[in-house]
Amino acid sequence: MSRYWPEYGIIAGPIVMIGFGSIGRGMLPLIERHFSYDHGRMCVIDPEAEHRTFLRQRGVRLIEQAITRDNYRTLLGGLFEGEAGRGFVVNVSVDTDSLDVMKLCRELRVLYIDTVVEPWPGFYFNSDQPLAARTNYALREKVRTEKAANPGGSTAVSCCGANPGMVSWFVKEALQNLSRDLGHGAASPRSREDWATLMHDLGVKGVHIAERDTQYVHTPKPIGTFVNTWSVEGFLAESFQPAELGWGTHEKWFPDNGRRHEVGCQAAIYLDSPGGLTRVHSWCPTPGAQYGFLVTHNEAISISDYFTLGDPADPEYRPTCHYAYHPCNDAVLSLHETFGSGVVQSTHRIIDETEVIGGIDELGVLLYGHAKNAYWYGSRLSMAETRELAPYQNATGLQVTSAILAGMVWALENPQAGIVETEEMDHERCLAIQKPYLGPVEGHYTDWHPLANRWSKFDEEIDESDPWQFINVLAS
Ligand code: NAD
Repeated sequence: MSRYWPEYGIIAGPIVMIGFGSIGRGMLPLIERHFSYDHGRMCVIDPEAEHRTFLRQRGVRLIEQAITRDNYRTLLGGLFEGEAGRGFVVNVSVDTDSLDVMKLCRELRVLYIDTVVEPWPGFYFNSDQPLAARTNYALREKVRTEKAANPGGSTAVSCCGANPGMVSWFVKEALQNLSRDLGHGAASPRSREDWATLMHDLGVKGVHIAERDTQYVHTPKPIGTFVNTWSVEGFLAESFQPAELGWGTHEKWFPDNGRRHEVGCQAAIYLDSPGGLTRVHSWCPTPGAQYGFLVTHNEAISISDYFTLGDPADPEYRPTCHYAYHPCNDAVLSLHETFGSGVVQSTHRIIDETEVIGGIDELGVLLYGHAKNAYWYGSRLSMAETRELAPYQNATGLQVTSAILAGMVWALENPQAGIVETEEMDHERCLAIQKPYLGPVEGHYTDWHPLANRWSKFDEEIDESDPWQFINVLAS
């Protein structure tokens, strides 16, 4: 079947991609397909020489260097100095400080997008720092503080991948569907307060970012190798960070190892426990009930923050929100091995489109606690369909790169919007761009709730008065 792929706009200045790992490699063909630009002025910055041949064949210059705290201003500044037209920086690397790079891009009037608030190296495993300082809450607060101090200006889109990113657009679309199905009529809120009011009025207590990745390869995972469908480094870092969740106003219990923050938006708490060792009960359409890892993610904080009503320090309403991630089976085994041995595997492998022989990435939002119990809304993208849609990536990758594409288009159309998170963007426009790449995007109601798994808990560890209390969701 031949498809029509629209061109979304002209990028008038240089395009610089920072990082060319699994996401960068999948992003390049989407940029080539959907934008018009001067190919001679595009480059990739990545220290790994392995990308050289691939990029040369595509006529893209590789600057084989790591961006560092010391060189980022001269290296990036030099690429845009004296260049006509507004350029774009697409940051899909690890170990580069998102905020520093974002601030520089805004100074240079260059559009900017990333998929995570990444710090310079050393942040995640710095045991000299208190746990609170190593959270995604702390990373996000720095970006929000910069936004408040310098509102408006050149657009920089923060955290616009699949999650964080696309899932925040799904939350809004799911709320609109729920409003219709619960008989509240068509809803098109305009302001942040209107969205929070809608979520509140629909009786939503919380949101799981509920994901099941079933992609698999032919060869079993060897001992000593960490296998994943996206950045192993990124997944390891978040697995070792404290578990974090947006903390809702319906919660009656507070975990013994839970900690609140003293500064900032107050939307989230963290646990004195690594995310990779924190499991929750959740639900996705394919497996039904399942365990997920409560690894920290920016969207757990930004969604709870965005949908808050009232004084942030003492809100009238706030949803609980957290990730409930069942990665591919090989990644679950890899994590088990990492924490079991206390040693991070020396070999890291991202399984790509040449080796994945089947499976899907089912990534959505589970809105719970309302009159219809729970509603999952998301993308169920298979590897087979991914191959038909775009080259050089697996299903997980395409959910991420198509969100970056949507974010880039939105930034081109809104070049002076300042620093934004995905909740602050037009979700209808972004999903219209992204959906052709997402496979089936479906809504599913379920009567499942965390107490349906009560055999896994002792009676004193549950609250029968409300199945959706976090005490019931938390498995271990
Ligand atoms: P990857 O590990 O495959 O690739 C990272 C690349 O960054 C590597 O090629 C590496 O050489 C390069 N790099 C490392 N240090 C660098 C530096 N100092 N300067 C320039 N390049 C450097 O990772 P990936 O799977 O491509 O993911 C890229 C980023 O996207 C990660 O930060 C990851 O956490 C994030 N991500 C976000 C989502 C989302 O949905 N929001 C999903 C997947 C990945």
